[in-house]
Amino acid sequence: MAEDNNNQNDNSEYEQVCYLCRRPESKAGKMIHIPNNICICADCMQKTFDSMGNMNGFPGMMGGMPPYMDMFTGGPNGFEDIPQNQKLKKKKKEEPKAEKGEGENGDTKGIIDIRHLPAPHIIKKHLDEYVIGQDYAKKVMSVAVYNHYKRVLTDTMDEIEIEKSNILMVGPTGCGKTYLVKTLARILQVPLAITDATSLTEAGYIGDDVESVLSKLLAAADNDVEKAQQGIIFIDEIDKIAKKRNTNSRDVSGESVQQGMLKLLEGSEVEVPVGATNKNAMVPMTTIDTRNILFICGGAFPELDKIIKKRLTSQASIGFQAELSDTYDKDENILSKVTVEDLREFGMIPEFLGRLPVIFSLQAMTEEMLARVMTEPKNAILKQYQKLLLLDEVDLQFDQEAVAAIAKKAAEKKTGARALRAIIEEFMLDIMYEIPKDDLIGRVTITKDYIEHHGSPKIEMRESGEATLLTQRPD
Ligand code: ADP
Repeated sequence: MAEDNNNQNDNSEYEQVCYLCRRPESKAGKMIHIPNNICICADCMQKTFDSMGNMNGFPGMMGGMPPYMDMFTGGPNGFEDIPQNQKLKKKKKEEPKAEKGEGENGDTKGIIDIRHLPAPHIIKKHLDEYVIGQDYAKKVMSVAVYNHYKRVLTDTMDEIEIEKSNILMVGPTGCGKTYLVKTLARILQVPLAITDATSLTEAGYIGDDVESVLSKLLAAADNDVEKAQQGIIFIDEIDKIAKKRNTNSRDVSGESVQQGMLKLLEGSEVEVPVGATNKNAMVPMTTIDTRNILFICGGAFPELDKIIKKRLTSQASIGFQAELSDTYDKDENILSKVTVEDLREFGMIPEFLGRLPVIFSLQAMTEEMLARVMTEPKNAILKQYQKLLLLDEVDLQFDQEAVAAIAKKAAEKKTGARALRAIIEEFMLDIMYEIPKDDLIGRVTITKDYIEHHGSPKIEMRESGEATLLTQRPD
């Protein structure tokens, strides 16, 4: 019993959920508590009594009880509690507000406070600490996000209504699309849900329906609806839901998903299951308003470069500039010239693109960028290894040439920065295995030869005095 009480105290931030109809307290009204930590709403209690009445003074004892009566008797699943992940956070009590527009300079209390909303250059500065290159993308994103949250936090929907600035990012794999969004959500401390467009299908077909992303966001916000309503949803691989060309069958994972997303992107109230990604009778539901959720879509859009080139060359071949036709073949960052028309040609429907007003592209990773990714960000992968070995009191160093050699290998794989970790892990394995064996090793330098399998890393021993000192450390 003491444990039950503890549980209730722990859950005090969460709403009670009716054991029978699974509606939360805010919808079903005050709950009646019965032993075993079970709550029932007044409606269900009434229904229970009504059905007992129909049994003519409990002849049911002969005919058996309705199945849901099990919980009173501790029957088959009688004492199962509502899982924690299906409970909603209680709404915060609203502070008495001045009449809208009067004496109020529009600053409502939100998850992030308008007075503390970082300005675009501050957001970009934080992004710079983690994300290498992609300067233009970081700038556009900082401004878009700043405007979005200004719109959310002021919430003044008078005649000048600020439009939602959902974002579409185009960029090759491993150039930092997901990383950028993750970093951004961390800086702003808003909940983030990441989902893959490939897993989405039209409602009713096998796969997750579009609204399942909202359940993920709700879970990321600890089931706090208000917090979720100001969160960010990142939908990766958005190019995979392009309209399929030349198909006669129903396109349940392409165009229909785009159609299904329209109302979410624009802003609507959606019934969402709590603690599950699909609706069924046994999970509580809640309503989420998507008006203030920032949607960011990202995709590699393979072959989009060809569409852009075709458009550019057809423009150039008018008149005497026809010789330009192959200039674009060498252009590494042709994606930066993307327009809405190109994306439409690719298979995105106009209504969908219309709801993603901020469109920009990210650069493909160059060798130089890859080398910086390894060494410069706050949590750069090489710094992580250095920290690990420092715990063994070994100084790990990387020759600049070695870093360049790793970058070269990674660039060959054409998967952007994703290739780095696998390559580094492969040759660090031996180091991480061998070095701790010998207490006398003081410094290891990774050389280009080691990366190219022509030699071994440079190992330096400690000064003998220092070594004894270290090996004799009491801890
Ligand atoms: P994608 O563009 O395919 O979404 P990711 O953002 O998932 O690529 O990148 C994979 C990993 O590569 C990230 O977790 C991050 O560690 C690293 N990375 C990618 N791009 C950058 C970048 N510009 N700066 C720093 N690290 C990066």
